[in-house]
Amino acid sequence: MRILIVEDELKLAEALKQGLEAEHYDVRLASSGEEGFFLVNTEVFDLMLLDLMLPGRDGFEALAALRGRGLQTPVLIISARDAVEDRIRALDSGADDYLVKPFAFPELLARIRALIRRGRADQILRLRVDDLEMDLVTRKVYRGEQVIELTGREFELLEYLLRHDGQIVSREMLARDVWHEVQRATPLDNVIDVHIARLRKKVDVGSGPKLIHTLRGVGFQLCKGIPDGAPT
Ligand code: CA
Repeated sequence: MRILIVEDELKLAEALKQGLEAEHYDVRLASSGEEGFFLVNTEVFDLMLLDLMLPGRDGFEALAALRGRGLQTPVLIISARDAVEDRIRALDSGADDYLVKPFAFPELLARIRALIRRGRADQILRLRVDDLEMDLVTRKVYRGEQVIELTGREFELLEYLLRHDGQIVSREMLARDVWHEVQRATPLDNVIDVHIARLRKKVDVGSGPKLIHTLRGVGFQLCKGIPDGAPT
């Protein structure tokens, strides 16, 4: 689940990023309306947190420009401006929700979950293979009844494997899509292997059938049963 934060107060932006990453969201920061507008036009986000008072193009203008281009990404305004007129103007300009600063972080999380649920009403909310299940709204992972605690990267990695369930996933794909690494560097292969090993330990040890398989020289496959190309 990817969130774009457009906020020029660096301290607040960093704090939000850290808090949301701890909840397993994948977060990008922009510190101006222009930068936010650029990112939301070039990458895919599930939600945007938008400050109103920004240098250059302000939040209202950025929002109007986005909706003018037909972008449907849910937008949650976070602003110190608490006047009713501002809230009405923002909602009328295409914002989905409005939270006045300072706010309690748990309330922000609840509103994010609500917006994502609404935005994804017609999309997949749960990924599942055998008794391994990932809830994309609550960000929880279960093997049977057991809750599996994952780091942010492990969550992303498992989400990717679940979305490619039954397919062979190469280290190149993981480097590009999970680590967002554009340049191929050898050391990342080791990092990927370490993360896969940790993930396997959490997901596969002591529970039902093994689901995460390594295909030597090829990559990985998440599936129940015998993976493709496995020695028989
Ligand atoms: Ca501001």
